[in-house]
Amino acid sequence: MKFTYRINKKNDQVKPLIEKLKANFEYDNKNPEYIFVFGGDGTMLKTVHEFEKIINDVVFIGINFGTLGFYTDFTIDTFDNLIEIIKNNDYEIINLPLIEYLVTSNDKRVKPITGLALNEVTIISPIKTMVMDVYLNDNKFESFRGTGLAVSTPSGSTAYNKSLGGSIIDINLRTMQLTEIASINNRVYKTIGSSIVLNEKSKITLVPQKYFNMIMTMDNESEHIEPFSKLEIKMSSSNVKLLANKNHSFFNRVKDAFLG
Ligand code: NAD
Repeated sequence: MKFTYRINKKNDQVKPLIEKLKANFEYDNKNPEYIFVFGGDGTMLKTVHEFEKIINDVVFIGINFGTLGFYTDFTIDTFDNLIEIIKNNDYEIINLPLIEYLVTSNDKRVKPITGLALNEVTIISPIKTMVMDVYLNDNKFESFRGTGLAVSTPSGSTAYNKSLGGSIIDINLRTMQLTEIASINNRVYKTIGSSIVLNEKSKITLVPQKYFNMIMTMDNESEHIEPFSKLEIKMSSSNVKLLANKNHSFFNRVKDAFLG
């Protein structure tokens, strides 16, 4: 088994763990099959983006050196056990659905932006009110006015989406969720108000009526985007493969993270 690793920051505790990995498995930073991620969820998100182009060929293993550790099942204390369960193939691979985004402009000089997200994609207008036409499967649904919109994956439903009042989605359901960020609702303007869960074949298209400074976030990355014509989001055919403890069900994960 070929592996590589990523660390959130220099940490003396990690060095002996890497020595143990090198004693047991083949280190190959160019063509890894397994990627050990030492850090928190932010480090996992960053590493997933780094390996986006070969996402279907690699398995991620999270060793929690951060705080919450929603994606990082293992710790320094369970590290020897982790090596044993890998050697004995006694683990579970969880397939985490991803969403893909495509930003395009009618102005041919503006390059399209495309990529994948494990938690969510958001589009935010921090200063001026965002006025965005929302199309669900090419049918106009509403004109949104507010701060922004978030589209999250099932595993991302417990991240930003949860803070926005969206629902927690079982990771075994291949869905994406559209959630409002501070919508304006009054006598004149109206939005649906609730988050919407869409099936795996759906497409969300966001078309700005006016363009102001907008920021797009893709998990822990962000970009100030140029005036654009539309942002399309759908489910990707790729998944993130996460090596997890057997019997650590999704709702145990949610319970551990939020109820303690
Ligand atoms: P980070 O590790 O500091 O993450 C921020 C927090 O979100 C941490 O407590 C982390 O454990 C938690 N988290 C991340 N993914 C999670 C998930 N899928 N389920 C439950 N908790 C999760 O690293 P970061 O680079 O700041 O992380 C980026 C993420 O932060 C974004 O993808 C977004 O979901 C989240 N975020 C949340 C808010 C909010 O809740 N108001 C605002 C901005 C970003």
